[in-house]
Amino acid sequence: MKSEFPRNDILLPRTQTKCHIFQNGIPIAKAYENKIMKTGNINVQTENIFPIIKKFLYSDHEIFLRELVSNAVDASQKLKFLSSNGEFKGELGDLQVEVVLDEKNKTITIKDNGIGMTADEIDKYINQIAFSGAEEFVKKYEGKEGAEQIIGHFGLGFYSAFMVADKVQIKTLSRHDGSQAIQWESNGDPEYTITDIDKKDRGTEIVLHITEESKEFLEKERIAGILNKYCKFLPTSILFGTKTEYIDSPEGEKEEDGKLKRVAVEVPNFINNPTPAWTKKPKDLKDEEYKSFYKELYPSTFDDPLFHIHLNVDYPFNLTGILYFPKIKENVEVQRNKINLYSNQVFITDSVEEIVPEFLTLLHGVIDSPDIPLNVSRSYLQSDSNVKKISSHITKKVADKLAGMFKKDRKDFEEKWNDLQIFVQYGMLSDDKFADKAKGFCLVKNTDNACFTIDEYKEKIAALQTDKDGKTVCLYTNNPEEQFSFVKKAKDRGYDVLHLDGPLMSHWIQKLETTNENITFSRVDADSLDKLIKKTEDIPSKLSKEDEEKLKPVFEANVNKEKFMVQFESMSEDEAPIIITQPEFMRRMMEQQRMGGGGMYGAFPEMHHLVVNANHPKVNVLLEKEEATQKEMVKQLTDLALLAQGLLKGEALNDFVERNIEQIS
Ligand code: ADP
Repeated sequence: MKSEFPRNDILLPRTQTKCHIFQNGIPIAKAYENKIMKTGNINVQTENIFPIIKKFLYSDHEIFLRELVSNAVDASQKLKFLSSNGEFKGELGDLQVEVVLDEKNKTITIKDNGIGMTADEIDKYINQIAFSGAEEFVKKYEGKEGAEQIIGHFGLGFYSAFMVADKVQIKTLSRHDGSQAIQWESNGDPEYTITDIDKKDRGTEIVLHITEESKEFLEKERIAGILNKYCKFLPTSILFGTKTEYIDSPEGEKEEDGKLKRVAVEVPNFINNPTPAWTKKPKDLKDEEYKSFYKELYPSTFDDPLFHIHLNVDYPFNLTGILYFPKIKENVEVQRNKINLYSNQVFITDSVEEIVPEFLTLLHGVIDSPDIPLNVSRSYLQSDSNVKKISSHITKKVADKLAGMFKKDRKDFEEKWNDLQIFVQYGMLSDDKFADKAKGFCLVKNTDNACFTIDEYKEKIAALQTDKDGKTVCLYTNNPEEQFSFVKKAKDRGYDVLHLDGPLMSHWIQKLETTNENITFSRVDADSLDKLIKKTEDIPSKLSKEDEEKLKPVFEANVNKEKFMVQFESMSEDEAPIIITQPEFMRRMMEQQRMGGGGMYGAFPEMHHLVVNANHPKVNVLLEKEEATQKEMVKQLTDLALLAQGLLKGEALNDFVERNIEQIS
């Protein structure tokens, strides 16, 4: 909505002592000392914009410091640019921004020695809210190196000062020779005054008179914390007070042991590293420098990252950054969301879910892009085409890096696989394009610790492990120790067994089955080997239907019927007399449910099959035995089968042990 009052700029003779100030179009008489040059109303486009700014511009009030320091850095960068351009001929000096906290007078001052502003510039850039001088500057010098590094964008940053201050002063001296220093002052209601002042140094000082409500910002630690969060990598040096450092005594004073005395000195406290690693060219950086930058980003992390990717894109959007692969720990969630998003070296957020695909939030590091819209809603971000492009570009880069590493040094890649596995699997499950690329470097490891790509593995096992329907069956164990007897049986037959473990495994296996034709995965204990890899037509059974009917109740009497389903199968004689299995699909469903997927099946009961080998001599002989012996034998066979699967527990296990001890004569 347009404001109802017209813009009221009243130019007053400098000697006048009284003037009318207009507020909402109504003149309010106010007495002023002399020197007033001009009063006017800030040209707002909507009514009562200040309450809006105060409440809604940024939900986080601490942002004011980021905005004002960024403006000061911009002012310095602009001057540097104009100097290199030949438009500014004066001395640049040491360009530097200083934040000064005055607890007593309740002010925070942000000083720079950048381009400064003339009265006209103040009028244009400050009095007209939402007119971004930064944008104008970048447009004017578009295409010239350096101009795009100006931070401002929205033309509102300066006004965030009013979130924490009830009076704001700008004291500024423009870079132009012979400029008159001026002061702009407003208490945000919305009226301002501009007066001439005496200021010798080029540049701008923004003085914030902090409100009682915001007095938390008058604490040194609070300001240091905010600066460290948002300004740690800004491109102009930022000074905040002093810090204590210990140095060798300059006077050469010695300790008793003859060593030089260490003495405390106060030194300027520069809070930023103006040239962080991601702003440099990859060829200028050594591996050690990448690692030390990782430590700079995450000072409390002890581990070195596994490796990094240096991002550098300038078309169709600008993006730089370094992404690190951390060593994945047990608790993945703790490691998530550590990527920091910057815009021209100003920290924006560490919540980058909308910018990188979810699986990449496991990575650490920095992304810097002036092209990501920053102060807009999340739903807007998701639909922004730049954001989408950035996201798919990063995914591609990550996949390319992994493919490159695999090609360059496969052995090293295999060594890192345990740490990479969860990340790659996660990526394959959540992003089809990534899955497509990952086919080339995604590995499986067998129980002898040999690694294969899926295609290599298929080829390796095809001859022996392809069933009569042409499906190649990959046998796996998630715990070689617990499933030892099953693994051994499979290996004795010449089969290979994979060791597949990890929280995403059953989802991932499913994915491989759907994307690779004629391949299926079965855990070694999912069924008898004959059934898992069915080579021939059914083996004839030595038990008739009646025999099975007779024996079934004897087996059922030994187990809980709700948990075990007794069935007879004609297997080869070399299989165990009884095996306890859990069908592959049933177990997967339960695992996926535990992981929070496949919920439509509701709570799945833990159900096993007690499979009796109809061709095993120890089973066949049962028919000839008396009832009591039959019972005893079945009990012993069942317990042994349960024991082999780690399912004999508590009282049942105790009974088994005692019974067996008794039998030792
Ligand atoms: P933005 O930075 O997005 O352009 P701001 O409201 O933060 O919007 O600032 C408006 C303009 O005021 C800036 O673009 C710049 O031209 C001017 N300005 C603000 N702070 C300074 C400063 N410290 N030195 C020189 N000019 C400044």
